[in-house]
Amino acid sequence: MKPVDFEYFAPASLEEVVKLAAQSGPDVKLMAGGQSLMPLLNMRLVRPRVVVDLNRVPGLSYVRDEGETLVIGALTTHRQVAESPVVGERLALLAEAVRQIGHLQIRNRGTHGGSLVHADPAAELPTVAVALGAELEALGPGGIRTIPVEEFFQGFLMTDLRPDEVITAVRWPVWSGRTGASFQEVARRQGDLALVAVAVQLALDQSGKCTRAAVALGGVGPRPIRALATEEKVVGKTLHGGLLEAAARAAAEEIEPESDVHASAEYRRRVATALTRRALEQAAQRAKGGLNPGDET
Ligand SMILES: Cc1cc2nc3c(=O)[nH]c(=O)nc-3n(C[C@H](O)[C@H](O)[C@H](O)COP(=O)(O)OP(=O)(O)OC[C@H]3O[C@@H](n4cnc5c(N)ncnc54)[C@H](O)[C@@H]3O)c2cc1C
Repeated sequence: MKPVDFEYFAPASLEEVVKLAAQSGPDVKLMAGGQSLMPLLNMRLVRPRVVVDLNRVPGLSYVRDEGETLVIGALTTHRQVAESPVVGERLALLAEAVRQIGHLQIRNRGTHGGSLVHADPAAELPTVAVALGAELEALGPGGIRTIPVEEFFQGFLMTDLRPDEVITAVRWPVWSGRTGASFQEVARRQGDLALVAVAVQLALDQSGKCTRAAVALGGVGPRPIRALATEEKVVGKTLHGGLLEAAARAAAEEIEPESDVHASAEYRRRVATALTRRALEQAAQRAKGGLNPGDET
C-alpha cells in the first residue's frame, strides 16, 4: 500500500518544528529515522495530514556526560549509542540493549527519541528506560517539559506526548560504585522484536550485598513493566542461587502477558522467569567482577 497524501516539511530549526506542529493540529507526525513511521504510513495505520521531518534540525545528535546523568540527543542513532565509549563505560545496560535492536541497517537509521516515542512494549530501549527511570525532554509551544518514563508510556504505541511537542533529549541516571547489568531477550529470529526482554542492573556493596536493583520486562504487556517485587526480593540481601530463583518467579507473577500469533501467554511467562533468573545472575557476576558487558566480548 501507499500512504495517504500528506504535506511534507523539512525545517532547519526546533522552533520551526514546534511552530509547524502547533499549526497542524492533531494530524501531524514528526519523522526521525522513519524505521517505524514509514511502515505505519505505508500500511495506512497512521494517516497524518502533515509530516515534519526532523533530519535537517542540527544539534540533536550527541551523548553528553553530566556526571550523575548521561544526556542523549533525540536524533542520535542506535548505532551511535551502541558504539559510544561513554555509554559503554557508564551505561553498560543501555549499550548492551541497543546492540540487540534489529539489524545494522535499522541501527544506522533508527533514533533514540524515535524508538521511545514509538513505544513498542517489546522494544529494547523502552524496557531499559523503564528499568533505569529515564526522563524525556519534550519541547512544545510552552517550553521544555521533563517527562518521567513511568508517565510517558501510556499503552501499546501510546505515550503522553502531545502532537505539538518534540522530544529533544533523553536523560539517563548513572549509578556509581560496584554495578553490573544484563539485558536478555528471546526473539523468533535474530533482529526481530523480542517476545520477552529483561533488563537488570544491580549495585553491590563491598561485602557483596545488593544495595540497589532495577528490573524491567518488555513484551509481556501493553508497556514495559518494572518488576518491583523482584527488586524487593534482592535488595539488602547477599545474592545466591535460591534467592535469584525466587526473585525470577516473582517477576513472572507480576506480569500478565497475552497470547498472540507469536507466542502463548504461558510460554511468555516461562521465558520471563528463565530470562530474569539469567539476567540477575549475569548482572551479579558482572558487579562482582567489575566487568561491563562490552569488556567480555
Ligand atoms: C525491519 C525492522 C526491524 C526492527 N527491529 C527492531 C528491534 O529489534 N527492536 C527495536 O526496538 N526496534 C526495532 N525496529 C524499529 C527501530 O528501532 C526504529 O528505529 C524505532 O522504533 C523508531 O525510530 P525512528 O527514529 O526510526 O523513528 P520514526 O519511525 O521516524 O518515528 C517513530 C515514531 O516516533 C515519532 N518521533 C520520532 N522522533 C521523534 C521526536 N524526536 N519527537 C517526537 N516524536 C518523534 C514519530 O512521529 C513516530 O510516531 C525495527 C524496524 C524495522 C524496520
